[in-house]
Amino acid sequence: MDKFFTQKTCDRCGGSLKGGRIMSMYNEDCICLSCKEKEMKRKDYKKAVEAELEEIKRGNYNYKGIEGERK
Ligand SMILES: [Zn+2]
Repeated sequence: MDKFFTQKTCDRCGGSLKGGRIMSMYNEDCICLSCKEKEMKRKDYKKAVEAELEEIKRGNYNYKGIEGERK
């Protein structure tokens, strides 16, 4: 998780993070904004957001996302 702020390339496409970085909603990947955009277009994006909100409601602030749990 510490590498989130120091890494220079996107975990997903390997591109530069100069334009900004954001945590994936699906797992703990640190991704670039264009990957985030693609993620938001996924059909199950809403489900990923809801799952995260549900975990936070339960007090789990370390939820790894609907795909992160499988790692
Ligand atoms: Zn990317």
